[in-house]
Amino acid sequence: MIDGLVTRDEVRTAEQYVERVLEEAIARSPGEPEFHQALKELLPTLVPALAMHSEYMRLGVLERLVEPERMISFRVPWIDDAGRVHVNRGYRVQYNSALGPYKGGIRFHRTVNSSIIKFLGFEQIFKNALTGLPIGGGKGGSDFDPKGKSDMEVMRFAQSFMTEFYRHMGPDVDVPAGDIGVGAREVGYLFGQYKRIRGSFEAGAFTGKGIAYGGSYVRKEATGYGLVYFVEEMLKMRDRSFAGSRIVISGSGNVAIYAAEKAAQLGATVVAMSDSDGYVYDPEGIDLSLIKQIKEVERGRIRDYAERRPSARFVPDSSEIWTVPCDVALPCATQNELDLRGAEALIAGGVIAVGEGANMPTTLEAVRRFEEADVLFAPGKAANAGGVAVSALEMAQNSMRMSWTFYEVEENLRHIMHSIFRTVLTTAGQYGKPGDLLAGANIAGFLKVAEAMVAQGVI
Ligand code: NDP
Repeated sequence: MIDGLVTRDEVRTAEQYVERVLEEAIARSPGEPEFHQALKELLPTLVPALAMHSEYMRLGVLERLVEPERMISFRVPWIDDAGRVHVNRGYRVQYNSALGPYKGGIRFHRTVNSSIIKFLGFEQIFKNALTGLPIGGGKGGSDFDPKGKSDMEVMRFAQSFMTEFYRHMGPDVDVPAGDIGVGAREVGYLFGQYKRIRGSFEAGAFTGKGIAYGGSYVRKEATGYGLVYFVEEMLKMRDRSFAGSRIVISGSGNVAIYAAEKAAQLGATVVAMSDSDGYVYDPEGIDLSLIKQIKEVERGRIRDYAERRPSARFVPDSSEIWTVPCDVALPCATQNELDLRGAEALIAGGVIAVGEGANMPTTLEAVRRFEEADVLFAPGKAANAGGVAVSALEMAQNSMRMSWTFYEVEENLRHIMHSIFRTVLTTAGQYGKPGDLLAGANIAGFLKVAEAMVAQGVI
């Protein structure tokens, strides 16, 4: 590790510092396993950076970084179509504003709790830093499940959520966007209620808006396209590309659909996709227009695909998707969906690269197994940063009251993803971890935030 630049003692001091901060942060947040996992994945990889910058230890940067600046939780009451009252819980973690206003999505899913929101918010800080754009880290959501709800129920819920949350956000304060369960429909209702309460059209207060009212071209496609741009660069490390490759993609939501679209445009064949009920295998290549019809228009289930497509079959267990042999696997559904068993199955099936479209989809054990087996691994906080990058471009367009073309935004996105890849790879090499994109992403994001935090004093 970074031979000649730091002493063994300096490394040992940094290790002890990380161990202490990790222990204290975990003790202070009992019952939050996903948050603990995110801390355990990230903090140890910062040792080389801390050994080289001992001032960050002296100034307590890590202690401050792991503690959110603010965590809000609130009641969200709403009335269903039958007149029954329901109560959900809303959350927002405003994690770190060293680089700019808090920025991060809102998730509506029944599994949402403070652990999930904190892990997502923590990861978001580093992801946003890697984009090179002036945005801090935050995340929010609710345990409301939009599945099976009518449009009017979703609207009433979104309006109730925003009636509380509006006072905590704004273009220079906190700028939310979509995530699982929050797509164009939900963003429209949330933004509409914000505008109504504020009495002014603050376009830059929310991203992922429809094109008709201040949204950006390519925002919908950004995370999936960006993931594929990043993985394409990574594949070059082995003289490979998407052309002629077989791809397995978990999920069939926003990220998964547009990762599949870009991979297919680059000449790959996507052979499997999933939702929480199971996966479909289609050796002829997934027909994306049919997936879009089922998922984006009909809000249907992935099994409907197999019913309408003779070459496909449905397997009613989404975790089995990793048994489908492939060259590249792109987990694009949710956290911890790819565990050690999945990793073993992928390795047995000949996988050469894994790219995280979702946030923390790969367990720590699976990440280690890929490392041992020399499988290329693109960590989510770098590889799925395309969504937030185009969100920041949406904010820029809103500020200028201008709208860039699809081509202009896509070129910008491609440039940003290539630049993130180079930064991550170079940083990994500089800190004694050549080729380790996970360490490179964590260190590069951390250094940027730490420098800004130190400049702004102990706050
Ligand atoms: P969507 O709601 O559009 O899609 C989520 C997909 O994942 C659906 O197919 C859903 O299936 C599936 N899924 C969700 N939970 C589970 C589960 N517990 N088990 C199996 N499948 C599940 O969300 P997005 O595509 O926007 O987000 C996907 C991931 O990407 C998340 O981790 C998100 O944080 C991350 N991400 C998203 C960004 C964005 O711009 N949207 C940006 C960066 C990261 P079902 O319908 O059955 O629930």
